[in-house]
Amino acid sequence: MSFHLARFILQFGISSRTASINSSSGYYHLLFNPNKRKFTATAIPTAQKSSKEELLVVVGGGAAGVYGAIRAKTLAPNLDVLVVEKGNPLSKVKISGGGRCNVTNGHCSDIKILAEQYPRGHREFKGSFFDMHGPADTMSWFTDHGVALKIEEDGRVFPTSNSSSSVIDCLLSEAKHRGVSLQNRKVVSSASVEAGGKFLLKLEKRTVSFVENVKADYLLIASGSSQQGHSLAAQLGHSIVDPVPSLFTFKIADSGLAELSGVTFPKVEVKLKLENILRNTPHLTQVGPMLVTHWGLSGPVILRLSAWGARDLFSSGYKGTLIVDFVPDLHIEDMKSILNRHKHKYAKQKALNSWPLGFSLTKRFWKYIVDREGLIGDALWASISNNSIVSIAHLLKHCAFEITGKGQYKDEFVTAGGVPLSEISLNTMESKKCARLFFAGEVLNVDGVTGGFNFQNAWSGGYIAGTSIGELAAEATLEEGIL
Ligand SMILES: Cc1cc2nc3c(=O)[nH]c(=O)nc-3n(C[C@H](O)[C@H](O)[C@H](O)COP(=O)(O)OP(=O)(O)OC[C@H]3O[C@@H](n4cnc5c(N)ncnc54)[C@H](O)[C@@H]3O)c2cc1C
Repeated sequence: MSFHLARFILQFGISSRTASINSSSGYYHLLFNPNKRKFTATAIPTAQKSSKEELLVVVGGGAAGVYGAIRAKTLAPNLDVLVVEKGNPLSKVKISGGGRCNVTNGHCSDIKILAEQYPRGHREFKGSFFDMHGPADTMSWFTDHGVALKIEEDGRVFPTSNSSSSVIDCLLSEAKHRGVSLQNRKVVSSASVEAGGKFLLKLEKRTVSFVENVKADYLLIASGSSQQGHSLAAQLGHSIVDPVPSLFTFKIADSGLAELSGVTFPKVEVKLKLENILRNTPHLTQVGPMLVTHWGLSGPVILRLSAWGARDLFSSGYKGTLIVDFVPDLHIEDMKSILNRHKHKYAKQKALNSWPLGFSLTKRFWKYIVDREGLIGDALWASISNNSIVSIAHLLKHCAFEITGKGQYKDEFVTAGGVPLSEISLNTMESKKCARLFFAGEVLNVDGVTGGFNFQNAWSGGYIAGTSIGELAAEATLEEGIL
């Protein structure tokens, strides 16, 4: 039997072992028989279905897909909206932000500053993208739908429940309320465009030999960083920027540093030097808090540097030199003067036990510097030579660490690469290569630094795509009504 157009009646929470499909000759109710491992079809009446009723298929039940599906269905209640998810919906939301879900960022009301948080996307996002749906709109949307939010000191926005379940429950219940259908554990494995402009999609279940052909009027690809999503985009004429990881920590082989594990620096300036990158890239210098870990360096400033340097670090095999300025607010000449004054004032004290308070350093870190400088533990300040003072000042301003690899930041990571932004219209999220094809979220060559910016890209893209599709579908319904 060859089916022309599938209409799914599965709703959230209902077993995905039944589905409704219509063919040119009517609707069929599919019943899964676990013993025979296949579906059997039974005809059911088609009375209320309109000939012009349209279908949106969303590939991926992540943040961008579900948010976009809700928006489209809200604007066009007559549009059938089906989200196909290969695993469980919103699975990344669940684990995000250490289980708390850093929904967005509340400290970036200026769009130019907001755009600068996206190593891939910063030029394009200076336009209207966040004007259409920015962090403030996201926060309003969630609070209006019952999720109380709080903004932390560093700008990260979390549910006051401190649980990502609040976000998931809200999205799933709104999707159900609007009539969005969701099918889990199904993969959209191929896509093509028919002569009439409809999308012909192949849906497969991995666990059973089951294949469906679905025809859709609109397609939203919100498949995150999955290779399958990239392959669908390629089948529909798009190019793909090779994916590489972003947001990671740096492994540093330095046993002295490892002993400092847990020490934090509220403000350092870090600069990345890579052998194969000779050009001067301002973004490879970043300022912010840093954390020493068992295996190297982490914290917001390192994660931000890893994001801006993601491609260059990948091509350098994650080897390079990190230059850290531990006292970025002081000029080196001022530091030398401060160290000299300290030497004369505390001449009889051990250099290991006393250091200028103005440098805001911990005892453990000062010991690391003294050791690295090769000073003997009980040397008195009086015996510290001028050369050593210059050298200590230099070490604090330009401390070099060899990066030996990349570590994992478990609270958030993301992929750089995907469908180039030049191939879509950012004010609609529609493909420039294929009409009625839309993209949103991480499937695009967009990624942000840590702090809620990656979800914001998903919400904004999903919302804009949902709005465009909803408006097109509502127009189509209106035209049908007039005719
Ligand atoms: C551990 C971790 C923590 C994070 N924490 C944060 C955070 O706190 N704040 C933040 O801003 N960002 C965070 N991120 C990043 C954020 O999760 C992503 O940027 C965001 O989820 C992207 O949303 P998306 O909808 O584009 O993609 P995804 O959330 O990846 O959703 C895509 C979905 O599509 C499905 N799919 C793919 N291909 C197919 C196919 N062919 N057929 C059917 N389904 C398909 C996938 O199974 C997936 O569920 C975190 C990431 C990780 C890994």
